[in-house]
Amino acid sequence: MATLGLKGVGVSRGIAMGKAHLLQRNQPSIREYLIEAHLIEAEVGRFNRALAVAQQHLITIRDRIPQNTPVDIASFFDTHLLMMADKAISQKPIEVIRQRGCNAEWALKLQRDALVAVFEAMDDPYLRTRKDDVNHAVNCIQRILLNQSERLPSAGDGGLEGRIVIADDLAPADTVMLQHEGIVAFVTEYGGPTSHTTILARSLGIPAVVGVKHVLRYLEQGEHLVVDGHHGVVIAGADERSIRHYRHRQTQERHDSAELNKFKELPAVSHDGVAVTLLANVELPEDMVMLARVAAKGVGLYRTEYLFMNRTELPDEEEQLSSYRNIVLALKGAPLTIRTLDLGVDKELHSDRRGVVPTNSALGLRAIRLCLRDPALFKPQLRAILRVAAEGPVSMMLPMLSSMQELHQALELVEQAKQELRREGKSFDANIEIGGMIEVPAAALCADTFARYLDFFSIGTNDLVQYTLAADRLDNAVNYLYQPTHPAVLRLISMAIKAGHKAGIPVSMCGEMAGEPRYTRLLLGLGLRHFSMQPVMVPEVKRIVQESDVDELVKKVRGVLQLPSMVEVETLVERLNSRKTGS
Ligand code: PEP
Ligand code: MG
Repeated sequence: MATLGLKGVGVSRGIAMGKAHLLQRNQPSIREYLIEAHLIEAEVGRFNRALAVAQQHLITIRDRIPQNTPVDIASFFDTHLLMMADKAISQKPIEVIRQRGCNAEWALKLQRDALVAVFEAMDDPYLRTRKDDVNHAVNCIQRILLNQSERLPSAGDGGLEGRIVIADDLAPADTVMLQHEGIVAFVTEYGGPTSHTTILARSLGIPAVVGVKHVLRYLEQGEHLVVDGHHGVVIAGADERSIRHYRHRQTQERHDSAELNKFKELPAVSHDGVAVTLLANVELPEDMVMLARVAAKGVGLYRTEYLFMNRTELPDEEEQLSSYRNIVLALKGAPLTIRTLDLGVDKELHSDRRGVVPTNSALGLRAIRLCLRDPALFKPQLRAILRVAAEGPVSMMLPMLSSMQELHQALELVEQAKQELRREGKSFDANIEIGGMIEVPAAALCADTFARYLDFFSIGTNDLVQYTLAADRLDNAVNYLYQPTHPAVLRLISMAIKAGHKAGIPVSMCGEMAGEPRYTRLLLGLGLRHFSMQPVMVPEVKRIVQESDVDELVKKVRGVLQLPSMVEVETLVERLNSRKTGS
């Protein structure tokens, strides 16, 4: 049999193998017909009943969610229930039925089209995908009106156990039901990395690939598939060799995740009793689901740029406050470090506020430089952060500092923002901790001076490496030069750690190096005790911390700064990693 490989977006990791179950459920087809005047109220009653059944249906599924799944999952159902209860869906169609004298399905369809058009016009991709929620909520009611059972079709006698579901799109409710039926993966034609179904799949641990064009046309009912939810690959008719390869990876992944799960609830304390803080980097609100799953102890880097991107209007102070507040609430008392805007280079605003974009924007008007130049952009954010800090343990972090002037200017603007808030009688945290990112070599070299004015440091290796080695982090042609273990980089990291400790302030690292298990022992040996990383990496880094003898690592790493090149450093790293206790 010929092998067919399809590519989509891998949104939930894991390898699955099983028979395809094609779910042919397009949008219900709906026609308008007129209702006689004396039957209009009966039609309204029909709509109300369908709405009530749909609501009850969602409540039933929500209540069937297994206890051990993250709490956030229930909130998907609450979102759909709220939509159903909203006047736009619960009342407006009734007005349409009465005004047009039309059937309930048509009235609901008109209202759905109007709502979807509003979401589609939004610039923000996250909000745009919320039209899926409208569709899911409305389709749930439509199927009841059309007398199509809300139960998903089953795969015949064997049920859906072990099947890979192929669909145009899946609602969160479908996903939960399918998981109950024992499916092992799903593949959809639509959906993106931020759709609710995707987030759910990740939380439920179901491998998933979305955005596979015409998938229902290419695959056949019952054929054997391999799904690689990490790389976004779907293979039909795989040969023996590929199957052996994927079986091996599957076993390996299962083993790894079971092993890592054991570390989840254990504290991040080394073998010789040194406590280490492992926090998570967060970009989008859905990262919070993963954060809860891996039991990270808070957020060490919240990249706020994502709130500002892909839109024409800037988010105002109130919108920012409400976004930050949501994270504070989700963290339930755990710490949150909000980084002020780091726009520029790869993270552009829809409308560029710098005028003409310079040729090498990494060295141009980005991050704190842009914010200091443009207080109308910066001030509302400072005010929002100060205000949310009155509601939880929030600190502020300034990116890309390179000179004391910048730091003084930024601190001056924070003072102004405090005074304004005081005058306006708004509550805020006057003692908020303000930290700085050490990601420009100048800041690492002058870390002792910076430490006098900052409450903490966070080392941003992603930029520190590129600026130290003059190797653009976005340019593949020079990625062979982009080396976090170059002695120059390690010396700067070490300088920042020592300067912070000497001044008595905590030093964290939030660049990708912090979440790279290979370097955990090296960094512990250099004196790092606070790490912030992609949530998925927390369990693995924690395992290494627990297995390490920090005292021994400090001794072993002592000579590293004198090593002549990255080659010798990497050899040392190998040695540290090959001995389990790090001794
Ligand atoms: C860094 O530079 O290491 C960092 C964490 O910031 P970003 O990747 O957002 O530039
Ligand atoms: Mg950076």
